[in-house]
Amino acid sequence: MLILVINAGSSSLKYQLFDMPEGKVIAKGLCERIGIEGGRNVHTDRNGNKLETKVHMNSHTDAIRILTERLTDPETGVISSMKEINAVGHRVLHGGIRFTASTIVTPEVKEAISACIPLGPLHNPANLMGIDACEEVMGDVPQVAVFDTAFGTATMPAKAYTYAVPKELSDKYDIRRYGFHGTSHRFVSGRAIEMLGGKKDLRIVTCHLGNGSSCSAIKDGCCVDTSMGLTPLEGLPMGTRSGSIDPAIIGFIAEHENMTASEVVTMLNKKSGVLGVTGGFSSDFRDLMAAREAGNELASLAVEMLAYSVKKYIGAYAAAMGGLDAVVFTGGIGENNEVIRNLIAEDMEFIGIKLDPEKKLAHEKNCDIAAEDSKVRVLVIETNEELVIARDTLELVGLN
Ligand code: ADP
Repeated sequence: MLILVINAGSSSLKYQLFDMPEGKVIAKGLCERIGIEGGRNVHTDRNGNKLETKVHMNSHTDAIRILTERLTDPETGVISSMKEINAVGHRVLHGGIRFTASTIVTPEVKEAISACIPLGPLHNPANLMGIDACEEVMGDVPQVAVFDTAFGTATMPAKAYTYAVPKELSDKYDIRRYGFHGTSHRFVSGRAIEMLGGKKDLRIVTCHLGNGSSCSAIKDGCCVDTSMGLTPLEGLPMGTRSGSIDPAIIGFIAEHENMTASEVVTMLNKKSGVLGVTGGFSSDFRDLMAAREAGNELASLAVEMLAYSVKKYIGAYAAAMGGLDAVVFTGGIGENNEVIRNLIAEDMEFIGIKLDPEKKLAHEKNCDIAAEDSKVRVLVIETNEELVIARDTLELVGLN
């Protein structure tokens, strides 16, 4: 069965074509700068050959047409017609309180995704454009929506998801913790359970550390708490996002800088995090690590702030779950940056975390880097959100 996975952003569209149930990617690519000058498509075919084309795209529908041409190209394509694709799975950012699991797209589901736009104003409209574009170009092929919020929203208890704000407002606007990166936390916690023998009754903290970062507490395979909230701004300090701050700072800056609350929130999303802390130096941890090595104190502070913050979440979630069996590192930083991982794990023997002196320096993925006598296992796992989307799509379409 062939399943196309789509991740549509406001001006970009990423795609992967999976051969399921094997989970093999047979082609993938990216359309960038949709609706603006300088559009381009980067396509990787079955043999791993990369083809880069400059092409103007007015809309997401144009992007789907481009990927159709690439996939069905008589020379470099992998299929002869889009009719060979059995289903399409879409990443959708916000499912609100309605969607606690993936679902087949119907007109009513599209309306419900649209109703969540106030909660995900940057992403949900783009996700819907991706769905509409597939409908337009591919006709009535079944489509599935996989929500970034579903894993957290499905099982978090009220004491973890409720904000202490007036109830009439939280009821009116569905203000609560939803959590994001749910597809990644679900995938890596599932892999961790497999790697640790298959028994679900584990207490795991999953740390997805990338441009956006979040930690989740997973007990018995269910998410019981997570660091992102109503939006992906809460929690850890990130590339450009502040993470948790005293909410009064918003009013303070608005008043003293003559800004609206919404302008301050945009600044907290786009100009803060490690980019902000380093005075605009970089949001990318590769740059920060190099600068730190060269003695840049602000880069060093930014790196330490992330590690310290993750350390605090591990401690907090171990307390919340009544113990800790495993910590999982994933995402660009979690998978590749041993310096940050080691800073996080430093002096954590009191909680049962002890890294193996050799493994903690290695660059392997999908392995356990804890010392043999460590009470808590520490796993580095490569995330694969697209595979989860393909699997959910297969399952839902297969059931119908
Ligand atoms: P996103 O959250 O956008 O999916 P990623 O998960 O790719 O982003 O994470 C991006 C972050 O991971 C950047 O800060 C980058 O510096 C870091 N990163 C990615 N690859 C590496 C690597 N090989 N070594 C060290 N850091 C890396």
